[in-house]
Amino acid sequence: MKKTVLITGGAGFIGSHLCELFIGKSCKVICVDNLITGKLSNISHLLKNKNFQFMKHNISEHINIKGPVDYILHFASPASPIDYLKFPIQTLKVGSLGTHNALGVAKAKRAKFLLASTSEVYGDPLVNPQSESYWGHVNCIGPRGVYDEAKRFAEAITMAYHRYHKINTKIVRIFNTYGEKMREEDGRAIPNFISQALNDKPITVYGRGDQTRSFCYVSDLIDGIYRLLMSAENYPMNIGNPNEMTILELAKEIIRLTDSSSRIIHKGLPTDDPKVRRPNISKAKKILKWQPKVDLEEGLISTINYFKSA
Ligand code: UDP
Repeated sequence: MKKTVLITGGAGFIGSHLCELFIGKSCKVICVDNLITGKLSNISHLLKNKNFQFMKHNISEHINIKGPVDYILHFASPASPIDYLKFPIQTLKVGSLGTHNALGVAKAKRAKFLLASTSEVYGDPLVNPQSESYWGHVNCIGPRGVYDEAKRFAEAITMAYHRYHKINTKIVRIFNTYGEKMREEDGRAIPNFISQALNDKPITVYGRGDQTRSFCYVSDLIDGIYRLLMSAENYPMNIGNPNEMTILELAKEIIRLTDSSSRIIHKGLPTDDPKVRRPNISKAKKILKWQPKVDLEEGLISTINYFKSA
């Protein structure tokens, strides 16, 4: 019997890679997206496939799904800081009401459920690297709080459905990820820097650029998510690349790889911008036998080529 996979946010950056993965595994895929930040062009090549169904729907509203569902991957949410600042209420709603609705479907169908959580649950962390046992340092009333707290609530309700309703749930804490299908106007550091560099426009480094991030290529992330879904683990799992660098180093690397004449300019640092971020991936290594394979240069070259062609 073919497995049926429901993917919320399936037209988004990561969601659309997951749709491709499960279509490639001959599953039936139901992709739900209200397209506020997702793009139909990410999945347009799948629309003709008889195993693929697209539903334009806001998962924060009740949803009716006909027939059996085996896996639910809840990826719907604005995920770029500029998006969750533009859609603060929708971000809070999809993390809370949207997660509740998606869990409700999991309960009705007795489906396995995987929540897309985030390294933002660690906030502006006081320990580096961050392991799953760290409780985080989040400003709940700051502008980023709408995303961080929605995801923290999403984790809490997911664990409650696991404990109370005995749903087989998984929580992936996704660290900064990049690659094909990111939008040019996404607003995050890598798409901004690549599109600025390709157009010989100034590279906008926020603050001094000494804040750090650790960037994971999308194919590595997708592999980690699939392994987590198939594992017996129910507690949160970091998936990310521990290769930590400053944002200034990232900007210089993108200028080098694009052979751009762009110069670096500095803009104001957004409120509560985390100063450091690096995943401890010991748990994923041990339990999932997973670790990233694609190094930054290789991943950036693929992403730059995608931006050139898009
Ligand atoms: N950033 C930057 N210039 C940009 C976009 C982002 O300097 O044009 C910085 C941002 O302030 C943060 C880091 O790059 O310190 C990563 O930002 P991003 O939006 O990619 O994701 P975050 O990790 O903050 O969620």
